Amino acid sequence: MTNNQHNELNIRFGQSAAAGGNVLSYRDQDLTKCKIHKNEDIKAFCKNDLCSICFKCLLVEHRNHDVVMLDEIEVEDLKDKAGQFHDKVENQINQLASMREKVSSIKENYDKKFEELFV
Ligand SMILES: [Zn+2]
Ligand SMILES: [Zn+2]
Repeated sequence: MTNNQHNELNIRFGQSAAAGGNVLSYRDQDLTKCKIHKNEDIKAFCKNDLCSICFKCLLVEHRNHDVVMLDEIEVEDLKDKAGQFHDKVENQINQLASMREKVSSIKENYDKKFEELFV
């Protein structure tokens, strides 16, 4: 590898590290807070402006807009998700139970063989 190639590699690595930094700082933004009223939680979504807004925004700037309350979305969403989650948990419990049965039957067999051989 020549010196030139090495330098090129270093530059590329430097750039990708910077890009990673940008992604991180974007993720650090608190998306649950209003962009205008930093201390207010997001309470609704404005369909006119396609943005999430807090209660203060809702009462002032977006008063006559078509607004969806986040709680309503969440309740419906959660019901759905909770149902799915419940199914999954039940599935896993069943799987675990059948696995435990298998393991214990294997162990029983093993114990019997062990006894046959050595007792
Ligand atoms: Zn606001
Ligand atoms: Zn609006």
